[in-house]
Amino acid sequence: DLLISQIAAGEVVERPASALKELLENSLDAGATEIRVQLEQGGIKLMRVADNGAGIASAQLQIALARHATSKIASLEDLERVASLGFRGEALASIAAVGRVRLASRAVGADHAHQVLADGGRPGEPQPTALAAGTTIEVRDLYFNTPARRKFLKSEATEYGHSEEAFRRIALARPDVAFSLQHNGRAQHHLRSEDARRRIGALLGDEFAACALEIDESAAGLRLTGMSALPAYSRASRDAQYFFVNGRFVRDKLIAHALRQAYRDVLHHDRHPAYCLFFDLDPALVDVNVHPAKIEVRFRDGRAVHQFLYHALNKALAGRGGENPAA
Ligand code: ADP
Ligand code: MG
Repeated sequence: DLLISQIAAGEVVERPASALKELLENSLDAGATEIRVQLEQGGIKLMRVADNGAGIASAQLQIALARHATSKIASLEDLERVASLGFRGEALASIAAVGRVRLASRAVGADHAHQVLADGGRPGEPQPTALAAGTTIEVRDLYFNTPARRKFLKSEATEYGHSEEAFRRIALARPDVAFSLQHNGRAQHHLRSEDARRRIGALLGDEFAACALEIDESAAGLRLTGMSALPAYSRASRDAQYFFVNGRFVRDKLIAHALRQAYRDVLHHDRHPAYCLFFDLDPALVDVNVHPAKIEVRFRDGRAVHQFLYHALNKALAGRGGENPAA
């Protein structure tokens, strides 16, 4: 039913940036090594994501746009250790409920590409189209059929800012993948496949990289890598707090607390610390609720995680911070 799907879509696709995040995650799940994003008017008028991933077979194109269609989870056991970014099978259906979608794809090994069109409702039949490889999805006129939602959007510049931030989070997590972002025809980011350090510099700025420490600590199956800035940076620049758990961007109280405490104890600096850190652990030790509107994590052993993060950062900061860590 169209109304119900529009209501559900309002939660999944809260704003253009939430749609962009879903589309980028789909491209990564498809194994893309290059992803190009074009936005117009903050993503409201047009959002196009083109990837070189595995593609979608023509017979699956309509299904991909249906609610609860996922190719990524076949059983409950899969759900326990989900390795893909998506698995709920509702993102494309939600986007198609509130925008005019063109989904074009050429599956690996297929002779031709096909596309389906959906205008806020059921997708039409697949038709042949031209596409060399991978998947290209276009979303036009987001919220064209839900004026209340559309009115709720902020200015084009604000929506673009949110979309760019969604792009930045994903691109930080996958420095091995090449990304580009265009807005209103102008190149905003052009990122080649590179190492994490270079990617952080490219996205958070040289200033961040210049006053950041490289971190690589591990203990008992937990690993923390990335860069953490010294206070000089936070005085000068924007808020930068990026934390990824097994490749997903998260904001979490327990994590923020451990990091803030390490900064405070070592550097006596308790304003917003700046960091871009990657925490990796056995997926069985963490529950990730990836409802698109919110990303929450629950660790099996929160205390152990807090201690590990605190000590890992404490050690790294103490090495360069010049001040005596609490013994
Ligand atoms: P989910 O990602 O949770 O499975 P989505 O609604 O985001 O659900 O996508 C539905 C399905 O469409 C995916 O499971 C996948 O099979 C297919 N799909 C979507 N985007 C792509 C893409 N860029 N490349 C290949 N397959 C895709
Ligand atoms: Mg998805």
